[in-house]
Amino acid sequence: MSDNIQTGNEPEARLTAVVDKLQQASGQKIEVAYVDIEQPLAAAASDGVLITRGFIECTRNDDELAFTVAHEFGHVEHNDTERRSVAKKEILERAAEICENHRGGAIKNLLLLGGALAVVYLSDKKVNRDREREADDRAAELATKAGFDAVKGAEIVRRTGNHRTVLEQLKASHPAGYERAANVRNKVNR
Ligand SMILES: [Zn+2]
Repeated sequence: MSDNIQTGNEPEARLTAVVDKLQQASGQKIEVAYVDIEQPLAAAASDGVLITRGFIECTRNDDELAFTVAHEFGHVEHNDTERRSVAKKEILERAAEICENHRGGAIKNLLLLGGALAVVYLSDKKVNRDREREADDRAAELATKAGFDAVKGAEIVRRTGNHRTVLEQLKASHPAGYERAANVRNKVNR
């Protein structure tokens, strides 16, 4: 399916059509909320997905829109919002333990605290990147099953991954766009 935008097709109507196909392919009915604002944003909550008009208007075709919605479905299915906060809590607890078990001089404690914070920061980043890869894998699988071109759809992560103003929320935790697009290409063997 390619270049399937019809002029005059309202963003919300495009979203509804894409969501219907993805829901059928997944066999689940994850809620998708359409928000009529200019700011481009696509995000997953614990029980649903949010997509803004601005985001839909950033997509070049329905393959890109489908890939994005399927990626967010992946987060909901994997319960990532929940897992992310649990993982963060575990990491912070581990950092607190490291500090507690090493009661030395003030400087030694400061160094340990710095090390513990670095561990927290890096682990959290690694955890997020793993979650994003899983969501991309799921997106490739689901979008393909629903009849979309996942490789073409993944082009949106390549573009937005290098864009400063678009998708700021995504940019913070997602691996580089080109890397994600390559992963999707590998996943569908092209
Ligand atoms: Zn994501």
